Amino acid sequence: MTSAPNVMSPRSLLDCSRAELEALVVEMGEAPYRGRQLWRALYHELRESFDDMTSLSRGFRAALHQRCAIGQLETVYHLTSRDGSTDKALFRLPDGELIETVLMRYAPDGHRKVRRTVCVSTQAGCAMGCTFCATGQQGFRRHLSVGEIVSQVMFMERLARKEDELEIAGGMRSKGDRQGVTNVVFMGMGEPLANYDNTLNAVRTLNDEQGLHIGARRITVSTVGLVPQIVRLANEPLQVNLAVSLHAPDDVTRAETMPVNQKYPLRPLIEACKTYIDKTGRRVFFEYVLLHGQNDSVDQARELGRLLAGVLCHVNLSPVNPTADGPFGRPTRVGRLAFQDALRDYGVPSTIRMEKGIDIDAGCGQLRARAVGVE
Ligand code: SAH
Ligand code: SF4
Repeated sequence: MTSAPNVMSPRSLLDCSRAELEALVVEMGEAPYRGRQLWRALYHELRESFDDMTSLSRGFRAALHQRCAIGQLETVYHLTSRDGSTDKALFRLPDGELIETVLMRYAPDGHRKVRRTVCVSTQAGCAMGCTFCATGQQGFRRHLSVGEIVSQVMFMERLARKEDELEIAGGMRSKGDRQGVTNVVFMGMGEPLANYDNTLNAVRTLNDEQGLHIGARRITVSTVGLVPQIVRLANEPLQVNLAVSLHAPDDVTRAETMPVNQKYPLRPLIEACKTYIDKTGRRVFFEYVLLHGQNDSVDQARELGRLLAGVLCHVNLSPVNPTADGPFGRPTRVGRLAFQDALRDYGVPSTIRMEKGIDIDAGCGQLRARAVGVE
């Protein structure tokens, strides 16, 4: 099942770029500025139905009804963690596929303001088969469309805006301090760079200044390590952050948990990352899930240090979230700190990430709290 979702009419507006939307509107016999109005109604005002788009004329709304659909996600359930920091939603797509999205809230710390990070899925399932990952254990179902990716952020943005309003009403923040969603990480289900075009088009929509306007620097795309796509991304004029899932310092260990390593071993992978750094001038974030007894020894930390010494990067160390079928446990606190110390000896900066929302399973598989790319 690799086909794109329902591409027949009605046309799903959230799959369109701004230029496509404007062209569609002109094709419908409307003035081009109507296209900009429609775009704002969708992504700025977050209207959920054509009837609510009161800035558009009645006739235009009727025409939209006939030819187009907004393409809403059907919410199967929506949970909030006990500490209120994390929300998880499960959505059913029109063909029955299920996907998950997580919202993580971070209180201000030091110089950093409040952040709300949405973790989005880019595929139903995943073909990459990493053995520690719940999605990988399910196998691949299909790619998500642009609209299906963007709608996940819009769902959480609506939630975030309501919270902003409540906090403003309660005097907890000023009117000018509305924030909505501040960051997006492509770390949900699926491999974003295997669904390259839809992922990048979704980034463009999220980034658009007439819409959600989430800064590219606040968007992070995570990849299992698809070498050609990393090089392709290096040449895009988009300022997004790149996270690369490394999870081992040598090919033998990496291949044990990540089948992709057969095709793209560490040497070409690190070369591609260096190309990315040279072309963009931006650091790469390396994800390293600590799997106890597999990749978390101090010797392995030293090997990782040698591999990454001198590379413009930041390593995110995350203790694994044990999955139902996975054999891996988490290292102790002492073990984690020893690993980090060894990396430091090679001048490789790192952060240890602890998950949020474990009680609602937002930490299960790969949907867990992290905020890479926003240091
Ligand atoms: N496919 C992409 C992005 C989705 S996975 C990728 O692999 O990078 C997002 C992150 O969650 C990856 O770093 C992935 O390795 C990690 N992850 C997967 N399963 C996990 C688990 N059980 N515990 C902790 N992190 C996990
Ligand atoms: Fe796919 Fe990423 Fe999970 Fe690997 S870790 S199976 S690439 S979603």
